[in-house]
Amino acid sequence: MAIPQPTPPWMSEDLVLLADNAARFFERECVPHEARWRAQHHGDREIWHKAGAAGLLCISIPEAYGGGGGHFGHEVVITQAHARSLTGGFSNGVHSGIVAHYILRYGTEAQKQRWLPKMASGEMVAAIAMTEPGAGTDLQAVRTKAVRDGEHYVINGAKTFITNGWHADLVCVVARTGAEAGGKGLSLIMVETQGQPGFRRGRLLDKVGQHSIDTAELFFDDMRVPAHQLLGSEEGQGFRQLMEQLPRERLIIAVGGVATLQRAIDETLAYTRQRQIFGQPLLAMQNTRFKLAECQTKATIAKSFVDDCIGRALRNELDLATAAMAKLWVTEAVGQVVDECVQLHGGYGYMTEYPIARMYADARVGRIYGGSNEVMKELIARSMER
Ligand SMILES: Cc1cc2nc3c(=O)[nH]c(=O)nc-3n(C[C@H](O)[C@H](O)[C@H](O)COP(=O)(O)OP(=O)(O)OC[C@H]3O[C@@H](n4cnc5c(N)ncnc54)[C@H](O)[C@@H]3O)c2cc1C
Repeated sequence: MAIPQPTPPWMSEDLVLLADNAARFFERECVPHEARWRAQHHGDREIWHKAGAAGLLCISIPEAYGGGGGHFGHEVVITQAHARSLTGGFSNGVHSGIVAHYILRYGTEAQKQRWLPKMASGEMVAAIAMTEPGAGTDLQAVRTKAVRDGEHYVINGAKTFITNGWHADLVCVVARTGAEAGGKGLSLIMVETQGQPGFRRGRLLDKVGQHSIDTAELFFDDMRVPAHQLLGSEEGQGFRQLMEQLPRERLIIAVGGVATLQRAIDETLAYTRQRQIFGQPLLAMQNTRFKLAECQTKATIAKSFVDDCIGRALRNELDLATAAMAKLWVTEAVGQVVDECVQLHGGYGYMTEYPIARMYADARVGRIYGGSNEVMKELIARSMER
């Protein structure tokens, strides 16, 4: 029998129902296609329309903009159902959890009306383009330039590692609009990619894991974008906007990690129960039982801490350092637990037909993106000095 875990105070009947509907959606619409999507390195464009029709996109965006009218808790249960299904196909976290909230928080009424309903239906796929070949952690080194020319910005530059980049119709681009050094000259500009001269997608990148999510390079060559697509009331707000929104992104990574932890343990419990070794189930060996006990302890601690962080986020009390701790601790725990679970599968744990092997490859990036874990430690340490 599973170890009972307390229900967090923010959980409601409505969320339980949504979690169940989302789990059935991923099982029905993603699981049968996952192997093909992995082979082609992207989901089908159609999955976005299906997710939109099922009400899974922009769930925490107000109904007035076509969203689900829910809150962060709604996003949590969808994120966890998606992670637990071991499918990709599309990054709802980037689309609904991140980009939609940049528009909601910093967009004008006209921008919200123009983009959010299309994002909620899946008509538009969104991405965020911060990283460049020469600027990852160090966002202040961004070189993509947006020069004002009348009623337009002329954008030149290159971005890499962009999630949803293959399908994206709307990209939130971090660009340098001012001569000021560092973060001060950065702005966020929304780019509609369809038929946009000067916009080009580069390679669909071949990653170690997460093969069914499209990750691409994007290039801008004298790309003219209407000046009213700047996000925020004036230029130079980009770095501040990013810093304000990054805790949310980091918590979303931790939320997905909690689901991954439990799925890895459940897979391994089932495997070791049926695997016979020296005339007994592998699960009967003390090493297996102790390893699984350690893994479950980590998963339970992760869930408890992340549930608390979700509560803080719902009360608008989630600070930068605590979000960094959640991302750091959970992604490190995922690395350790999934590695132990591979070991308990023996050679089968190294075969990609086994879910645990795919989880091993898929999980590694959690310690790198959303701000690397070294950066998380830096943020936590800085908050301790104050
Ligand atoms: C699958 C995937 C999806 C991604 N999706 C997106 C996306 O949608 N949009 C986007 O903009 N970006 C995306 N990224 C980029 C991601 O955010 C960056 O890879 C990440 O921020 C690290 O930047 P970098 O790769 O340039 O590494 P670098 O910045 O070069 O870092 C190299 C190493 O140096 C360490 N380091 C850096 N600074 C410090 C410091 N101050 N102290 C100690 N160590 C330090 C880092 O921790 C790391 O270990 C994605 C990346 C991947 C792999």
